[in-house]
Amino acid sequence: LAASQLAGTLTTCPYCGVGCGVRATVRGDGQVDIAGDETHASNAGRLCVKGSALGETVDLDGRLLHPQMRARHGDALQRVSWDAALDKVALGFRSVIEQHGPDAVALYVSGQLLTEDYYIANKLMKGYIGSANIDTNSRLCMSSAVAGHKRAFGADLVPLCYEDLELADLVVLVGSNTAWCHPILFQRIARIRETRPQMKLVVIDPRRTATCELADLHLPLKAGSDVWLFNGLLSFLARHDAADGSFIEAHTNGLEAALETAEAECADLAAVAKTCKLDPQDLLTFYEWFAANEKVVTAFSQGVNQSSSGTDKVNSIINCHLLTGRIGKEGMGPFSITGQPNAMGGREVGGMANMLAAHMDLDNPRHRQTVQDFWQAPRMAQRPGLKALDLFQAIEAGQVKAVWIIATNPVVSLPDADQVQRALAKCELVVMSDIIEKTDTGAFAHVVLPALGWGEKDGTVTSSERRISRQRAFLPAPGEARADWQILCQVAQRMGYAGFDFSAAHQVFDEHARLSSFRNGDAFGQRRVFNLAGLSGLDQAAFDALQPVQWPVVATSAGEKQGTARLFADGRFAHADGKARFIATAPRAPQHAADSDYPLSLNTGRVRDQWHTMTRTGKSPKLADHVPESFVDMHPQDALLYGVREGALARVSSRWGSMVARVQHGGGIARGSIFVPIHWNGQSASDARVGALVNPVVDPVSGEPEFKHTPVLVEEF
Ligand code: SF4
Repeated sequence: LAASQLAGTLTTCPYCGVGCGVRATVRGDGQVDIAGDETHASNAGRLCVKGSALGETVDLDGRLLHPQMRARHGDALQRVSWDAALDKVALGFRSVIEQHGPDAVALYVSGQLLTEDYYIANKLMKGYIGSANIDTNSRLCMSSAVAGHKRAFGADLVPLCYEDLELADLVVLVGSNTAWCHPILFQRIARIRETRPQMKLVVIDPRRTATCELADLHLPLKAGSDVWLFNGLLSFLARHDAADGSFIEAHTNGLEAALETAEAECADLAAVAKTCKLDPQDLLTFYEWFAANEKVVTAFSQGVNQSSSGTDKVNSIINCHLLTGRIGKEGMGPFSITGQPNAMGGREVGGMANMLAAHMDLDNPRHRQTVQDFWQAPRMAQRPGLKALDLFQAIEAGQVKAVWIIATNPVVSLPDADQVQRALAKCELVVMSDIIEKTDTGAFAHVVLPALGWGEKDGTVTSSERRISRQRAFLPAPGEARADWQILCQVAQRMGYAGFDFSAAHQVFDEHARLSSFRNGDAFGQRRVFNLAGLSGLDQAAFDALQPVQWPVVATSAGEKQGTARLFADGRFAHADGKARFIATAPRAPQHAADSDYPLSLNTGRVRDQWHTMTRTGKSPKLADHVPESFVDMHPQDALLYGVREGALARVSSRWGSMVARVQHGGGIARGSIFVPIHWNGQSASDARVGALVNPVVDPVSGEPEFKHTPVLVEEF
């Protein structure tokens, strides 16, 4: 091993959107020591238990090491050469496109991909195949935040940074079990409260989670009632002299309609408390604290986004910050905390079916022209493609005939997951790129392609605070595995497309950086905030030396790369008139109400020590110790009512599917609801895919599924 490897490699944790820096050191015996990167601004050397256990997950047990193919669904996979596998994918896609057009093929990708992988996947689909049928599992976690940002700010822009959580006098965490899902952020809040005990923390969550242990006030609102709560706050702030009139006048539009909508149902605090099932005094306390504190950060996550009214929930939060002018300054603003390590990087390259590279809009003809000219692309997508759930429905309907699934496991993770199985079983060509040999999705693939995993990959990721960090390889490529961007380029070249002649990740990053400043601000296109002008032209050495930096990034006259901690400091937003928009948000209940057949409401989410469908964290005995098997958490009185006992197995069923899990109490769940974790897959002893139960209902604006509310029945097993 080279001395530089033994000295440790600075890279980034591949799990959540906090984006912690990691120092990975390969020991002489081949084991990997993991420590926090003390120089990284996001975590300053700290790691949570998942990040600390990364060294236990990099062995080659269960790894997919060679390309494999099968002729038909149900046949055994056979090892093949890369040439044979790449030819099969390229010829298969080309044949479907020639016979049925570009919209008959699709890519389904992942927030686990590096920005370079994501960039090439989008370039291939949107600029060369000529379809926008590329969507991502990030659709499942933050697309409502994207849509809310675009409506309010004119672009998908996160205004603030982690430091603002420490500078705030009031932190409001909405729909976020931060202590378990973004532990290092939670630790930053906990530490600052030791030195600033006057700082207040409010947690708004139907469950009494670990995050509530630190809270001054927990509002256990009824699931799905967030818009009532924040419309009530908007109305309260307006009536209690908390509005910033000069900010509203100079920098916003649309207050009148938003306020009128809010007041229609939510002007009366007692009525709001009743709808949200909250103690009116607690609700009043929260409203008074919000009104009295200038420095307020409202951080939100999946409890807000994963809803049939997710986009309205986001905008109802942003409305309160616009009304008070609390945005663009230190210690204040609405803060979307992303779930995946590179959900933000995917957003930069237009990683979803309704987005375009460099934060441009697919439905804007000038933006399409800008990207087409830059790529010299032969066939630009002209309209949005199929969002995740629509995509798998189109596969089952026979409209999409070839799909390439990269770094994600939709047979476990999507709502109505049995429908995904049916769709893939019917699909003419299913290609899967992954690092794991046996996954629930891989069972349906005709071609499986071995990809590089964390520790072997080279590129960049972007965290929730817009900070771009390097993932650096410190392990050799195992077997015949290749980088995802490289596999995509090799297929593109076999399909006859120019424009994919990259030989290293830094070249892909450079093209991505140059596109961000191409015609940015000239007469042809309006000024775009996303700009990496200061990061273009990096050669391998400069890319290797790249320090974490928050976009937009400009180069100073001294040649330094200068990032940007906060956006909108000048009060200028990304809408054409430079103003932010209040959005009228009429409250709506979750789409499917509990009824006599399915009387309980299923809420899903993560546990502290597992990640996604456990294909990686499931390898660590230390992580498995925390929660060894799937469970259904329910209130003891509901358990009594439905005849199930703590510790016994129970069947949980909905109109879409069923699963079996062990009953437990103590998760702080309210009566009428249950909680089941998302992680367990069909490879575990019992088929505990909770995705099979989740209703395939989506937010009409963002397409994000309603993972937090499905009517279910719990019975003795
Ligand atoms: Fe990794 Fe997130 Fe834990 Fe940081 S907080 S170590 S990014 S899982």
